[in-house]
Amino acid sequence: MTINEKDVAALVKAVLDEMSKGQPQVARPACSSQKEIPKTARVAMLTALEKYEIKEFPMPEVGDGDILVKVEGCGICGTDAHEFKRDPFGLIPVALGHEGTGEIVKMGKNVKKDSAGKDLHVGDKVVTCMIFKDNPDITMFDLNKQNVGGADVYGLLPDDDIHLNGWFADYILIREGSTVFNVSDLDLYSRILIEPAAVLVHAVERAKTTGILRFNSRVAVQGCGPIGLICIAVLRTMGIENIVAIDGNAQRLEFANEMGATKSVNFQDYKGIDALAGAVADRFDGHLADFAFQCTGSPVAHSNIYKFIRNGGGLCELGFFINGGDATINPHFDICAKEITTVGSWVYTLRDYATTFDFLKRAKGIGLPLEKLITDTFPLEEINEAHQKNLAMTGLKIAIINK
Ligand SMILES: [Zn+2]
Repeated sequence: MTINEKDVAALVKAVLDEMSKGQPQVARPACSSQKEIPKTARVAMLTALEKYEIKEFPMPEVGDGDILVKVEGCGICGTDAHEFKRDPFGLIPVALGHEGTGEIVKMGKNVKKDSAGKDLHVGDKVVTCMIFKDNPDITMFDLNKQNVGGADVYGLLPDDDIHLNGWFADYILIREGSTVFNVSDLDLYSRILIEPAAVLVHAVERAKTTGILRFNSRVAVQGCGPIGLICIAVLRTMGIENIVAIDGNAQRLEFANEMGATKSVNFQDYKGIDALAGAVADRFDGHLADFAFQCTGSPVAHSNIYKFIRNGGGLCELGFFINGGDATINPHFDICAKEITTVGSWVYTLRDYATTFDFLKRAKGIGLPLEKLITDTFPLEEINEAHQKNLAMTGLKIAIINK
């Protein structure tokens, strides 16, 4: 077979052009790798607060370094919820959605490999990542890097004349220079969970820098929303098996057990911090935690967590992704006298992103039901309902799934 994809693409385009001119039907060349691409694509544009409109835009030209992707699905993130409710970044009108994935339907002749060096072909499943590929160690919102508003922050880009800038759409145009990964070996739900899971892979990497988190550590995870639940799964895939989950919602605690927690504490059952800390120690057979992950955005939860950690233990605070206010601690009792080592964690690096693919495969391998995190799915045309469902916080991860 000597015909390359570009020739086939040109051939198909020529045939389709002919058809659209009202010419009689011409037999199309048989080619399994070339997908039929419509002339327009639907994009869910946030045009006002709490209001998406489905807009139809012409399919853009695919440049030599570009990739056109047919979107299969995209998770709704906390960031999307903030944009939906308040537009803190001043982006309206904007095509949101950054936890997306889909299939390459067309790519420019210069596109050969993904950001990890893997081959790319039409038909491959991909995700984008929000980091420039020139420095794998930066987190995506490092303001000293020109990565905010850069070509690769899909789902948080200002609108332009291409419009296909977010994953809440039928198609997205991935521009030259973007970070893109071939994840064809992961199923759809795993691919949708890559972005949130990368946050936890990064947090656990940060925790490991303390030297305290080890194979047989006693670990407390406070907060069992999607972030805390994935945190438990990441720990479990690392062989950490003594995990106590803490939350106020019995259903979420049950889910925490499915994700790999050994025991759980419902804080609603205990009055006062001493009783609560006692309950945590009880689950560890009388010991406090060697290490704790704080996965809620609650200042009280931050204040409390020090009481669950043993002398010389460690803490990773990752719940305050956005400013959730001040928390009160006693620096003498909580940090100095106990010699607690704390790390903060925010977003992820490009390296963590690639590690996440392996985490997802391993989680599946040991039977953790990560796909159950996606509790509700909606088609693109019901994106407003999907966001309202997300705001109601009655599910875990809400996702748009295209037909
Ligand atoms: Zn996100």
